[in-house]
Amino acid sequence: MSFDLVLFGGTGDLAWRKIMPALFQAFRHGTLPPGGRIIGVARDDLDNDRYRALIHKRFDDVELAKRPSPEEFDRFAALLHFLRMDLSRPQDYARLADMLHERGADTVIMYLATAPALFTTACEQLAVAGLNTANTRIVLEKPLGHDLASNRAINDSVRRVLSEKQIFRIDHYLGKPSVQNLFALRFGNSLFEPLWRRETIANIQITIAEELGVEKRGAFYDSTGALRDMVQNHALQLLCAIGMEPPINAHADAIRDEKLKVLRSLTPWTPATLAQHVIRGQYAAGSMAGAPVPAYRDEPGVDPGSGTETFVALRAEIANWRWAGVPFYIRTGKRLAGRDARIVVNFRPAPHAIFNAPAGAANKLVINLQPRDGLELHLLAQGQDNRQSSRPSNPTLAPVQLDLDFDKRFGSERVGAYERLLLDVIDGRLNLFVRSDEQEEAWRWVEPIMEYWRGDPVGPRPYVAGTWGPSASSAMIARDGFCWSEEC
Ligand code: NAP
Repeated sequence: MSFDLVLFGGTGDLAWRKIMPALFQAFRHGTLPPGGRIIGVARDDLDNDRYRALIHKRFDDVELAKRPSPEEFDRFAALLHFLRMDLSRPQDYARLADMLHERGADTVIMYLATAPALFTTACEQLAVAGLNTANTRIVLEKPLGHDLASNRAINDSVRRVLSEKQIFRIDHYLGKPSVQNLFALRFGNSLFEPLWRRETIANIQITIAEELGVEKRGAFYDSTGALRDMVQNHALQLLCAIGMEPPINAHADAIRDEKLKVLRSLTPWTPATLAQHVIRGQYAAGSMAGAPVPAYRDEPGVDPGSGTETFVALRAEIANWRWAGVPFYIRTGKRLAGRDARIVVNFRPAPHAIFNAPAGAANKLVINLQPRDGLELHLLAQGQDNRQSSRPSNPTLAPVQLDLDFDKRFGSERVGAYERLLLDVIDGRLNLFVRSDEQEEAWRWVEPIMEYWRGDPVGPRPYVAGTWGPSASSAMIARDGFCWSEEC
């Protein structure tokens, strides 16, 4: 099957940090179907050779094991082409159409790795140029809008020219191997299903913590913030993966129908829950790994008086028979104490204690998403001390854990998130992509938070860079009698 992958924004940060390395890995692994062409598109004055040289140079920033040897790059470079084009100029689309028609590939993928402000024009003009045929697929990157109305406007403009089956909305968290294994754990094994409910689970914690600040993307981040950048998409998709009912099969719409039901079941916000169950923070100067780091407001591109949140912690509930009353805590932020994405499922303690056990000790299942990728099952067990004199009348239990490290078990050369998702786009598999109604429902749920913050003169709470966010985040969870996983 031949394909043309048109990478709009082919010289941008996303293209060279994520998309090109992922395409190269697929090429190296032999999973990229033969007969492919990758066409980088930007306004820069480049030709094929200069584009190839630029991409080659940028592989210097990729981790060593994932860099091509000169021979590998030469072979990969044969796939790379460049088209100079301004997406805002209708007359430029005819040249793209000529280039694509000349070859007539079986599948044409339009990857919009460029500012969302260009999406509507791009879709309209692709249709005018006759490039919205049945063999066209379009890939949309986040952020798809900044609220429900702008999200709908983008989705409507795309759906006017392509059907939903041709639209691949990326949420790269869904491409992570551990998230796919979460589906496997839940729906390929019967062990956890009877336990996966309010009777046995005390609370669930979803943490996506970054050590990095805003780096070179201060201006972008300052108009976005953690709620839009991480909660509306990645964190809610993880919540869906945990909370959804078993789908009737593994097809895209069966999975997406169940995720949509979870989003629709999220308890609506009230003035009281908005005040008590959502904490926003912004990092102040601090230190990371012993080196001082500036406050968010002193970062390049950030408004010195910015009220943008770099941290959010919130408490959600899914109002259905399986989950009613179980808090789902979501926490995400920049310049936190560790780079750590994980989901912790905290089970209820044993109902009646016949052993000595540490206070509050209970089972938990930890799904590690990054930097490690695997599962830990925390149990309580009795040690091996058989000496008569030290044997207590009432045995003491200690926490132990069963550890499944996916890198060790399956090898660290496994398929990364972008590689998996790109191969799925080429194969036309939509399972790991987000449908428009899911996105709209997620926006509908976060919008009251944005509205509440607009009317709140207090603004985000400062936290010292290198910590776990404002103390109010710990206070919020403590009110329910729980603590964040690193605190207890
Ligand atoms: P970027 O570094 O600013 O790159 C933008 C790209 O678009 C460049 O190749 C630029 O090249 C091209 N471009 C801009 N205007 C154009 C026009 N009128 N016609 C044709 N090409 C044009 O941005 P980015 O960080 O890669 O982000 C791209 C998109 O992905 C954004 O929507 C962003 O929010 C999203 N995203 C980025 C990341 C990330 O880590 N970077 C992560 C997730 C999502 P020329 O200026 O030469 O035209």
